[in-house]
Amino acid sequence: MSQLTLAQRDLNVLWHPCTQMKDHESLPLIPIKHAKGVWLYDYEGRRYLDAISSWWVNLFGHANPKINAAIKAQLEKLEQVIFAGFSHEGAIILAERLTQLTQLDRCFYADNGSSAVEVALKMSFQYWQNKGLTKKIKFAHLENGYHGETLGALAVGDLGLYKKTFAPLLPEVVRIPVPHPLNKIQGESAKQHATRIFAQAEKILNAEHETICGLIVEPMVQCAGHMNIYDAHYLKLLHAACDRYHIHLIADEIAVGFGRTGKMFACEHAEVTPDFMCLSKGLTGGYLPLSCILTRESIYQEFYDTYESGKGFLHSHSYTGNPLAVSAALATLDIFAEENSLEKNSHLSAHLATALENLRDHPHVSNIRQLGLIAAFDLVDSKGLAYLANERRGLKIYQYAIAHEMLIRPIANTVYFMPPYVITADEISLLLRVTHDAINDGAKS
Ligand code: PMP
Repeated sequence: MSQLTLAQRDLNVLWHPCTQMKDHESLPLIPIKHAKGVWLYDYEGRRYLDAISSWWVNLFGHANPKINAAIKAQLEKLEQVIFAGFSHEGAIILAERLTQLTQLDRCFYADNGSSAVEVALKMSFQYWQNKGLTKKIKFAHLENGYHGETLGALAVGDLGLYKKTFAPLLPEVVRIPVPHPLNKIQGESAKQHATRIFAQAEKILNAEHETICGLIVEPMVQCAGHMNIYDAHYLKLLHAACDRYHIHLIADEIAVGFGRTGKMFACEHAEVTPDFMCLSKGLTGGYLPLSCILTRESIYQEFYDTYESGKGFLHSHSYTGNPLAVSAALATLDIFAEENSLEKNSHLSAHLATALENLRDHPHVSNIRQLGLIAAFDLVDSKGLAYLANERRGLKIYQYAIAHEMLIRPIANTVYFMPPYVITADEISLLLRVTHDAINDGAKS
């Protein structure tokens, strides 16, 4: 009997996320044997530059020596402990450090991004219920937003691809417009655009605020929404409106937090402190699942009462504050502090901007955009129009790049880069060269 390959054994028993599994009849699955820095190595001896930080989680490279050492040391002490009635030192230190970094006061742990969003929504809702404002039962969200795949998170997302099938299961929400190239008037500055779109948003908030608990946003960049980068002024205006209308501002920093946009947290671009901040992904340097919801003391106090009052927040996840994940998070914060990472990222981001310039005049490239270490552009046909979705142009780019040692994973026609912060200037240049060739190769078909 012939030996099955790992990929064949995988496809016999596994069901992968965000995948039409039938695609794998023609698209090879790639089992990875080991990884180091920005490079993933497969069993055939091939390597791939992880230009998307393994779904936007990795910050300081795979097998980072400092994070590895921290997890190994923690493993010898405590791997997991119930987090109700019990605690552990790492979780306390991490909360102290995160509250200091975010200007918020209280930290609630969960174990992935979608769960963090669920927690923030439930906390916001219960806060108003506890206060007796029982008409507040809806959430507002931005057009083109994405907040995860669990039902609450899906409800406040706006991407039909993920949401449409489940629409009958989802609670009613209020949709707020977002600055986007498709609704931008020619000649309008980014700030003017933000101001005009905000006028539309304000009308909706004004009409509906009595029933709205909170507005959830991805600050500065809507990542899954084709890397839509909008002006900080919009965030500022939304923040002020939320204050005026007694609506919580919930900042989903899951993808953009931890230095990704050039600031430690994307809200800092607008000098805004939200009522809730959701963190995950890079929180552990991309090592282990952990998430954290930060909020204000005044919100916490609205839950603080006798057990009988029923005001407590009775939400839980088994792996809340897992000590191994927490040790990875602490090591990640140490790297930020010790290695001047934000400053280093600004040099890498400048190099990425220069490398992107070579694509500026390419006939199949449109709307090049960048904020920190997130960069993206859209593929267009020879008339400058978006390719039809079923042409799957992004997939062609993916396949070409994989054959040339690069992992990039376009979102439909949007090609983007979100590399680990340990990428070198030479590797950025290489990445852009392969991307350039991939576009030319795709344009032939
Ligand atoms: N919010 C945002 C902005 C995200 O980008 C993601 C994941 N891509 C999530 C929430 C959900 O996180 P998770 O996949 O860990 O559930």
